[in-house]
Amino acid sequence: MIGSTHRFTVGDFVCIVFCDADQVRDGVGLFPSVDPDTLKKGFSDLGYQWDALKFSMNILYIKTPEHSILVDTGLGGNRSKLPESLLLAGIELNKIDTVIITHGHGDHIGGIIGADGSPTFPKARYAIWKDEWEHWLDVAQKTDDPNNPARKNLIPIQDKVMLIEKEWEFLPGIHAVHAPGHTMGHMALLVESKGEKLLHIVDAAHSPVQLAHPDWAPGFDVDPQVSTATRKTLFAEAADEKLLMLAYHFGFPGVGHVERSGDAFKWEPISG
Ligand SMILES: [Zn+2]
Repeated sequence: MIGSTHRFTVGDFVCIVFCDADQVRDGVGLFPSVDPDTLKKGFSDLGYQWDALKFSMNILYIKTPEHSILVDTGLGGNRSKLPESLLLAGIELNKIDTVIITHGHGDHIGGIIGADGSPTFPKARYAIWKDEWEHWLDVAQKTDDPNNPARKNLIPIQDKVMLIEKEWEFLPGIHAVHAPGHTMGHMALLVESKGEKLLHIVDAAHSPVQLAHPDWAPGFDVDPQVSTATRKTLFAEAADEKLLMLAYHFGFPGVGHVERSGDAFKWEPISG
């Protein structure tokens, strides 16, 4: 199973977005706290179909002069196109030296461990925000369910984890950005090389409609007030610094630019 790919550069870095999986979702179901009629109008005003919202799993691969980096691992199992897509692009799984885990949800950690129980990326170490790691390791240790994604994927990599406690450049050109609200240790990334920058907001937003409505929080944000503040900060940074932006769940490839529009923002996607 092969997914789409989108290749671009950030300075000296080669970036490829891999589509691990593609879903179509009901936009009203995604934002249970917002009045359905307001949502439907908000979607159609922006030209989106509220009942057929593209919801992808966009995995970023970054080749820097020093490192081969993967940002998240997708769903895993037979729904996941990532491992075969990487191989087709000429990227051997044992050449990935760093997997950045942005947060502990199953659609981001599900591909860490393969069907045979061994790590999909055997030579990789794993970078994750410290509080996020501690939260999900606790979840993993308290459950008996062998299919729990945290138990299945995090327990086996315990001794290969690099914990991030502050916003800093933890690899050359890769800056950790604390982006809480979706989960409290959710981490975004600023990728920078030769003055060019990419802001990967990961799950700080789940749909382009949130640029026009940053206060719309999906049901799976653990703290909607905090996630709203994070969204506004990241969108403002992308708009004011004219950054390329990537979002994990926007329709593939999820790459584009942000502009200010009134009190909110506008999404200008680049086509895949
Ligand atoms: Zn997600």
